[in-house]
Amino acid sequence: MENNTDESSPENNIFTTIAQGDLTEFKSILAQHKGNVNFFDENGMTALQHAAYKGCKDMVQLLLDRGADVNCGNHEYNYTALHFGALSGNSEVCKLLLDAGAKPQATNSVGRTAAQMAAFVGNHHTVATINNYIPRSELSYYAVSQGQQTVAHLPAQVVEPLHKFVLGVNIHPVRLALNLQHAPVLLDNAEKVTKVLEMLCKKEMTRGSETNEVMAFKYHYLAFIVSEIHKIRDVHKSSDQTEKNHDFVMIFSRKLLKPGKDGYSLDLMDVFLKDCVREFPYRECTIMHQMVKALTEKEPPPALSVIDCTINGQRGFVDSIPCCSTCAEEKPAKKCSKCKLVQYCDRECQRLHWFVHKKACNRELSAPVPASNVKPSIDAAELTAELQNLVAG
Ligand SMILES: [Zn+2]
Ligand SMILES: [Zn+2]
Repeated sequence: MENNTDESSPENNIFTTIAQGDLTEFKSILAQHKGNVNFFDENGMTALQHAAYKGCKDMVQLLLDRGADVNCGNHEYNYTALHFGALSGNSEVCKLLLDAGAKPQATNSVGRTAAQMAAFVGNHHTVATINNYIPRSELSYYAVSQGQQTVAHLPAQVVEPLHKFVLGVNIHPVRLALNLQHAPVLLDNAEKVTKVLEMLCKKEMTRGSETNEVMAFKYHYLAFIVSEIHKIRDVHKSSDQTEKNHDFVMIFSRKLLKPGKDGYSLDLMDVFLKDCVREFPYRECTIMHQMVKALTEKEPPPALSVIDCTINGQRGFVDSIPCCSTCAEEKPAKKCSKCKLVQYCDRECQRLHWFVHKKACNRELSAPVPASNVKPSIDAAELTAELQNLVAG
């Protein structure tokens, strides 16, 4: 490792292409560069740190593939690649660095971790990504039989999808249901998955000085959701083999997204989530006290936001970020083409929300409709027509 001062050296060309964000040129220079990629620029920064700061996932991946050391660097303020990734606000870059062994606890010269730097510049999603990160080994441990065990707690093929599921930052129940739908192996092994999540919860609470109440609660929360969705899927599978009732996400969404008497409060969601909080077995811990206090205020905030704050931290002043009306995913790509007032990730999210939005959407466009005239069920033709009109937001 050495400083490179020669302006035209291949090392310098790599720094330049990263700064320009020129991926094609970057690939070609990297292919020509035969040596070690852990070299520094005049500020003691590595190429990986530059790529992380640029928030360029592809460059970060290519450098890691070439053996870039994620904890290497000689920056004067002790910034690590993860600090730079955190500043870029690209959560996927941060995840790649964490997967490669970046140390989330490393601090810069003013004592700030990468997550704290991300919070400082308002990259809330990145803060949550780093704080919720667990290494894959935490889960793969359960896929190997230990001691007297003849069968491991988890089948090996569950580890990867479960890791992805646990790392997810969006904890909205409908988003989790959609994630489970996309990873059927998790529901097929729901009992094992739930059991392992509960064991992980216990493990986080019994780490002595390293006890992590937040992760413990997250594991408990995910276990609760998996077991609930599994129940719904099983009941409908056994009672109805022919119907499209296999659509457990729709059943689950209709249960949780149905507005209360005032027309917008999600009363059923609240009841469901309060049950989850109530079942957290560590009643004396700090976050439990905080949640109960918030939920028993005179005008309590929605249980979902209390849980989201507990798991992902306070958001600061960024509440104006648009999010999906169905699953709360940030910066959704589409909006309702009729009223343009609500946004969705995709057609699937719009479909799941139509039974709620239908009334409001029509109300925006015509005279108010008496409630008794509104059909409670989804009109398939109407929904299809609406889906056709779904446009990019
Ligand atoms: Zn969505
Ligand atoms: Zn609409």
